[in-house]
Amino acid sequence: MVIQEGMSIQRKLEILSDAAKFDVACTSSGVDRKGNGSGIGNSLACGICHTFSADGRCISLLKILFTNECIFDCKYCINRSSNDVVRASFTPREVCELTMEFYRRNYIEGLFLSSGIMVSPNHTMELIFDALRMLRDEYHFNGYIHCKAIPGTDPVLVEAIGWYTDRMSVNLELPTASSLKRLAPHKSRKNILKPMRQIQLRRESNNEYLGIYDGRRHVSNQITMTNDKSSEITNDNRNSDRDLLLRVNNTTNIVPYNKAPIGKSRYVPAGQSTQMIIGATDESDYHIMSVSETLYDNFDLKRVFYSAFVNVNDDSNLPSTVSGPPLLREHRLYQADWLLRFYGFKIAELLNEKNPNFNVLLDPKCDWALRHLDEFPVEVNKADYYTLLRVPGIGVNSARRITTARKSAILDFKDLKAMGIVLKRAVYFITCNGRMMYPIKLDEDFITRELLAVKDRLPFGIEKDITYKQLSLFDDVSFQPDDRLMLQEISHA
Ligand code: SF4
Repeated sequence: MVIQEGMSIQRKLEILSDAAKFDVACTSSGVDRKGNGSGIGNSLACGICHTFSADGRCISLLKILFTNECIFDCKYCINRSSNDVVRASFTPREVCELTMEFYRRNYIEGLFLSSGIMVSPNHTMELIFDALRMLRDEYHFNGYIHCKAIPGTDPVLVEAIGWYTDRMSVNLELPTASSLKRLAPHKSRKNILKPMRQIQLRRESNNEYLGIYDGRRHVSNQITMTNDKSSEITNDNRNSDRDLLLRVNNTTNIVPYNKAPIGKSRYVPAGQSTQMIIGATDESDYHIMSVSETLYDNFDLKRVFYSAFVNVNDDSNLPSTVSGPPLLREHRLYQADWLLRFYGFKIAELLNEKNPNFNVLLDPKCDWALRHLDEFPVEVNKADYYTLLRVPGIGVNSARRITTARKSAILDFKDLKAMGIVLKRAVYFITCNGRMMYPIKLDEDFITRELLAVKDRLPFGIEKDITYKQLSLFDDVSFQPDDRLMLQEISHA
């Protein structure tokens, strides 16, 4: 184990928070836990690292790598073993002290912990496990924790860590096994899917045991992920894990299956997520979204994150990104992802082999609607919820408001406007009481021109042509000189 003795905690923090910035899979949504009176902190149901929650609050997680040392050589990664970069590693205690100190100063509401691979996946994950166990059991930290699982980690460690985190994620990295082989030769699809399947099945059995239904369909325990028997997680090999489980760490209090360790009850309560790099390889949007759909349907993932490829290495296997990372493409994928998760769309409705990429000028729902004008206009006073959701300009909240409000009144366009429906988009696709707002011809060219004139609300970074930048803790104006002293104290603790 190589943990730098001489490096200050502040320097480590600078290196390891900067090294974590390319990991985008860090939302804290999905778990709502009040402070329990005995621990410190609470976790809130919605919020995204370094961005705004659905209720308008900016919430943040301490987002760090445990180490940026790595024995792997993924071609797209700044921390790959062949790069000559300054390396640093935290100790488990340093991770705890930093989390607690930043939490007490109100800088963070939780921890997002990822890592390079030091010595081996198991070695690194054991250190991470020690950090999380101390944080929960010794420091009584009750805030949100999102932890990455390193592919190739022993299932016993994945099992143990899951009791101490709210969310876990295993990065898929690239959409296909062949791309993975080319750009991340030390990783395999099997090693990535195996812990994903393990976490899924374990969550299901834990939820079943506790009588919790988390809103997604439960997948049979018999499900297998490939025809390759070695990557299946069956009841048999899960049972054989049990002995190992008892040996994993004599401080864990791990007990056999279907019972939680003492003091723990939920296994990965906020579910799991994953991340794919977009634009490093030549898969189409159709291919990428088909993979996402499979992950949602068969692995019960809460989120798939898309990370526009940023070229940080001078490697001939990587595409040049002279015009910047493909942020607009990333944005379209997120919009389509939303349609899959909340709007009842299937990817085959949006794209196909002949039309494999999203329209850069129009969002995926407008694009779909224009290709299906025969399904419009929709009568807002009669259409069911899912039909309303397919109308451009009507989102989940608006569709709910419409279905509620029309129980007591017949709606007209003024009511829709008051409900926040984006009429400049919806107006081409709806009627109120059998009438359109204006006499409009349902003509694809005409509506396309009109919709193009409505400005697409793009994320700030795309609008302003700003490439990815994550705030550093040291950029924060509220970071006081005293805080630097605090870091020195942790260093000497
Ligand atoms: S495993 Fe690959 S992606 Fe992860 S830190 Fe190492 S080189 Fe980077």
